[in-house]
Amino acid sequence: MADEDVNYFDSLRKTDFSDTNGLKTCFDHFDKDRDGLLDANEFSALCKQLFVHNHSDGYHLTEQQEEALVELLDSDKDGKINMEEFEICWKYWFRQVLSPVSALVIVDVQNDFIDGSLALRNSPACQEGSEVLPVINKLLEEELFDVVVYTKDWHPADHISFFENVKERNIHPSSPIQGEDAKMFDTVKFAGPNDLVCEQTLWPTHCVQGTWGAELHQNLKIVDDAVVINKGTNPDIDSYSAFWDNMKQSQTSLVEELKARRVTDIYVCGLAVDICVAFTSLDGVEHGYRTVVIEDAVRGIDCDGIKTRKKKMKDAGCVFVKSADVPDMLNCKDRHPELGYQAAVNVAMAMKIHEARLLGSP
Ligand SMILES: [Zn+2]
Repeated sequence: MADEDVNYFDSLRKTDFSDTNGLKTCFDHFDKDRDGLLDANEFSALCKQLFVHNHSDGYHLTEQQEEALVELLDSDKDGKINMEEFEICWKYWFRQVLSPVSALVIVDVQNDFIDGSLALRNSPACQEGSEVLPVINKLLEEELFDVVVYTKDWHPADHISFFENVKERNIHPSSPIQGEDAKMFDTVKFAGPNDLVCEQTLWPTHCVQGTWGAELHQNLKIVDDAVVINKGTNPDIDSYSAFWDNMKQSQTSLVEELKARRVTDIYVCGLAVDICVAFTSLDGVEHGYRTVVIEDAVRGIDCDGIKTRKKKMKDAGCVFVKSADVPDMLNCKDRHPELGYQAAVNVAMAMKIHEARLLGSP
């Protein structure tokens, strides 16, 4: 095999990047003119090998995409990557691209969304929620994820999102629909705690704590040592995201659990893609997780909502893939440039925080 056919980074998959032994050899490999700097052409050659979807095929990055990466990783802004900057790449950027820690976040695969009061098949998009089960189970059987998270919508009986409770609550004067006129699936504004105005879609009573409807579907594979996150437990504020409530007043323990396990990447699946999967994925990106949505392992409620939210997720940086692509991604044989970009953004942010701390110190 000719030297140029060997992908330099394949041997670095799943290695320990806190060990900097291979750093100089790697730098020298791409610094073809031996001037101690990686210029645009040399960096481009590096990208061709870093971002591949099998052993030989590279993703084609545009010049602008490569420039955007250099911009993030080039601390001294001379347009080139020097050894010091490369060390940061090695320790943080390559680590996320070539040795990520990945969590499968299974959102709300609960009875009520499959066969109960909010069964997806009865919603406008007429999708079948149970179709996610074999796809998710197959991913779990392959045991490739470092961490598995099950989230549950877990509401008290007097929850704000239940249409049946609307008359018990104070509608805000600014609400376009007042309590007596409100119908199921309308969006109203409630006068919430601490003067908050809580916009809320009115759903049928669902996922009440301790009931059959709130249980995970019996055909969903449950793995040992998984993290379980209950959301929507506050009667006065709903929570679509597994990270935050809808008013960003309080967080679940999800970030803490992911941090404790050094997770860098989340793969999101489950129900419903236009509501809880979308909010969880968007918050995931906001928290700096490289976020992948498994397209054939999600189903949604409303066709327009699915389209709009998918666009919003893609614009935010979520990567949509098929479940069949996931094993290669977890083994780092398939390395998406979009995720590489997110990793570079994370590195640049961490560097900025680090610099600010240094400047702020006496
Ligand atoms: Zn709910």
